[in-house]
Amino acid sequence: MRANYRLQRLFVPDDLGPGATVVPEPRQTHYLLNVMRMREGSELLVFNGRDGEWAADLVVPGKKKAELHVGSLVRPQPAASDLVFCFAPLKAGRLDYLVQKAVEMGAGVIRPVTTQHTQTPKVGLDRLRANAIEAAEQCGVLAVPAVEETVSLDRLLADWDPSRRLIFCDEAAEGDNPLAILTGIGKGPLGLIVGPEGGFSDEERHRLHALPFVTAIWLGPRILRADTAAVAALAVVQASIGDW
Ligand code: SAH
Repeated sequence: MRANYRLQRLFVPDDLGPGATVVPEPRQTHYLLNVMRMREGSELLVFNGRDGEWAADLVVPGKKKAELHVGSLVRPQPAASDLVFCFAPLKAGRLDYLVQKAVEMGAGVIRPVTTQHTQTPKVGLDRLRANAIEAAEQCGVLAVPAVEETVSLDRLLADWDPSRRLIFCDEAAEGDNPLAILTGIGKGPLGLIVGPEGGFSDEERHRLHALPFVTAIWLGPRILRADTAAVAALAVVQASIGDW
């Protein structure tokens, strides 16, 4: 069922059900009343990542106060995406962009991975999670992807479930068409990994190619910026064997 883009959508942590009353956080109240200039009786959508999407009416019981009175279920909670999106953290602004695009493109798990050339090894998970929620609010994703703890590439590969195919975006791969390679894999649990600004090291590339659960793909003859590569890779994966 298509999401409703006419109404404002708000993520809340509260349990949702008919007749529930939700008191938004002060930041959200400010946004609704002062930025969106919503008034008593305005309708909006609320979701919590667990109970689906609900219609709610805004009640303003006092100055700078807001309550959301939950009415009916608009869209049931869908199953979470099973696509594990692994990426080497980039510098802050590009990282925000990357996480938001991963959510829009249907990642189910967002997994920062530090590699040899990663320039920003420490990422603020709260910031990543806030970006994931913001993207979910804007593009109607109800199953908010889990942003997991940063791991090293060694740890990621050591713990990887070999029944899940890991699509490796290899900027040094030669020119086979990724769609032909991906459709050859067929349906099944998937992961995707994109390297950092500095690309993967030769040693990392060699290790990845040697793993039985890894499939390398090429994203064309030009070296893409890491955040561009993420969107391009998610598009070809989702279009060929993903959920498009
Ligand atoms: N120096 C550039 C790009 C480095 S490559 C920058 O500043 O971002 C970043 C990552 O994007 C690579 O590790 C790879 O995972 C992916 N990538 C970029 N171009 C690619 C290509 N043509 N084919 C496959 N992967 C690519």
